Amino acid sequence: MTDERASTPAPLLQIESLRKYFPVQKGLLRRVVGQVRAVDGVDLELAPGETLGLVGESGSGKTTLGRCVVRAQKPTSGAIRLDIEGRDSIDLAVASQNELQTYRQHMSMIFQDPFLSLDPRWTVLDIVSEPLRKLQIVKAGEAEDRVRSLIEVVGLEAQHLHRYPHAFSGGQRQRIGIARALATNPKLIVADEPVSALDVSIQAQILNTLKDLQHEFGLTYLFIAHDLSVVEHISDRVAVMYCGRVVESGPTRQLFHQPLHPYTEALLSAVPQPDPDRRSDRIILPGEVANPANPPAGCHFHPRCSYAQDICRSEAPPFVDWQEDHGAACHFSEEIELQGV
Ligand code: SF4
Repeated sequence: MTDERASTPAPLLQIESLRKYFPVQKGLLRRVVGQVRAVDGVDLELAPGETLGLVGESGSGKTTLGRCVVRAQKPTSGAIRLDIEGRDSIDLAVASQNELQTYRQHMSMIFQDPFLSLDPRWTVLDIVSEPLRKLQIVKAGEAEDRVRSLIEVVGLEAQHLHRYPHAFSGGQRQRIGIARALATNPKLIVADEPVSALDVSIQAQILNTLKDLQHEFGLTYLFIAHDLSVVEHISDRVAVMYCGRVVESGPTRQLFHQPLHPYTEALLSAVPQPDPDRRSDRIILPGEVANPANPPAGCHFHPRCSYAQDICRSEAPPFVDWQEDHGAACHFSEEIELQGV
């Protein structure tokens, strides 16, 4: 894990003012009566070779954001600039299907559930070679060699090539999913809760595999998770989302030691600590995650925040970089002393 960004090269990915709204329809005529603001004005950057952990409870918008980045969903507005060396930078948010086709090989996705994300009727060879066939990246006859080397890279064996997903454990299936994500030699991988469905012992193995692959292939990860303990050891930086917005982002170590937003403090209080002297009391947030179809006025977090004051109920706090590359959207980040780990 590194937190030095002084010599950071130009970003591989730049997300600017990104919004994804889903219409709420009612009645026989399906009239639009509102909007679910799943992603509501997000700005983020990823440098080449970096891992950004994107964290938040379910409904915070992190998966929708990841799906917009790989254009599995078209954003409502904003920009997603992907800068691949030797190619013109492209705004994925507005790119046509034809334009996207030429960039698809540079980005891929690892899905959460290795039991649902693999077609049970396909062999490992079919599954991992699918992106190669779809994007016509290798010639017929070369695909099998490529898949064989990929599954060895992710820790499986050549003899697994003609087996079906049911023959594998959860961890092995996720390795198949990782091999599929690597098939086109991408620069950017969006990993959507890649270890949440796995046993804790297997989680560590998969995280180590992802780190090794990152070093070997120079990969850049947008790593989505619902708790901070998973992203701690894999992320260079972390962004915390709440109700469609990034409420804090910063270098991992700094954000863990000195959180600037009360929501981050609450998430950190749930991170298991091996040292009993450093164990903090778990903060149980009252109420439910804010509804992105009808978020509270002012700071969306105020109904659950023990530090809330009058201004929080009426004015949305702007996102401010309080320290270099470490910022938060809270009126009182400078005044309240929050507990890190
Ligand atoms: Fe809490 Fe107010 Fe900060 Fe929102 S702005 S996180 S309600 S203190």
